[in-house]
Amino acid sequence: MQTLYPDYYAQFRCTADKCPITCCQEWKISVDDDTLKRWAALNPPVDSKLFTYVQDGQRVIALNSRHVCPFLEKNKLCRLVLEHGEDAISETCQVFPRETHSFADHEEASLMPCCPAVIDLWAAQDATPLTFPHPNIDSIPFFIRSAIIDAILQQTDRLPEQILSACFYMIQEIHRKKKPTKVFVSDCFSEKSFCQLYDAMDDLSPDCIDSVLECNELLLDLSVNYQKEQLYQEWLTPLTQQAETLSELLTEPEEELPAQWQAFRTAFAQYEPLMRSYLANEVYSELLSFEDTTKHMLVRLQWLMLQYAAVRQSLFLIWQDSPEAFSYEKVREALVIINRMTGYDEEDIYEYLENSFESLLWDWGYFALLAGF
Ligand code: SF4
Repeated sequence: MQTLYPDYYAQFRCTADKCPITCCQEWKISVDDDTLKRWAALNPPVDSKLFTYVQDGQRVIALNSRHVCPFLEKNKLCRLVLEHGEDAISETCQVFPRETHSFADHEEASLMPCCPAVIDLWAAQDATPLTFPHPNIDSIPFFIRSAIIDAILQQTDRLPEQILSACFYMIQEIHRKKKPTKVFVSDCFSEKSFCQLYDAMDDLSPDCIDSVLECNELLLDLSVNYQKEQLYQEWLTPLTQQAETLSELLTEPEEELPAQWQAFRTAFAQYEPLMRSYLANEVYSELLSFEDTTKHMLVRLQWLMLQYAAVRQSLFLIWQDSPEAFSYEKVREALVIINRMTGYDEEDIYEYLENSFESLLWDWGYFALLAGF
């Protein structure tokens, strides 16, 4: 079966001991049965009972008290690879950060934003937009996905979150139709429809304080379990303290916040090409990853908006704390950690949305509130 790759894919190299946020710490590293068999055959064998345990029906590496993989040496290299070669590590470790989604007649490979080397690749493209393959398939879901990616990468006169909001509105329209025709769908994503929507959005005057407050609450909610499990503490603890202080402050009218938000947006603007690459990549890899229904597309766009809002809110808090220290490395770290924290399975995404909101599918107004343009 043919596998399609985005243009940046082949350039990926793991930076191993130079990695600033290694994937060998602070998250679930699963170990497949074949790896366990290979471990048992090593000389000396690796005792899987010592180094793994079963969580939610899955065998995973038992991290040490510092939440680091026990095979990671002080020089940040993997002891299993050093002593026995690449084949000794689990499939998860060999494949990360690559992912592949299978469709009826082709497969699509991409890289995940949970790895700093991937973010570096996108950042190195600077103002040149990433290129994603357009499979030669005459279907409405693939058309919608291409239209959203093109909008994110090409409509540079609009904020990425505004484009996501417009696309969310258009998919809602399509979702309401029982049997949408191709003509209807291409009308929805036509230049004329985008212009009309943007004109309508420009007439709205969203309250920046409400938006910042909601994104703040969202960030705190996403952090709760990681705080309990003491994961990502170095990054999360000061951030959540700042978020809590900000939420308390915002219960009173806050005069300085709109000006601060605008100043942050100006500082953040230099990373907009990177954010467009990130969002386009996520639409490419996740919009059709589970089912190709419009309901699933709405769920995945909501999740992407939620992730983006959490990244942006973290960076707002980091910028507020020290505008002069706001750097590419901070942006990369926020992207990597928030994406690791929110890299849920499909079922868990549905469960989180169903448990955290009145209904699985949001009103457009709530999507726009998180977008906060
Ligand atoms: S996060 Fe990426 S660059 Fe860092 S060790 Fe893992 S695969 Fe390599």
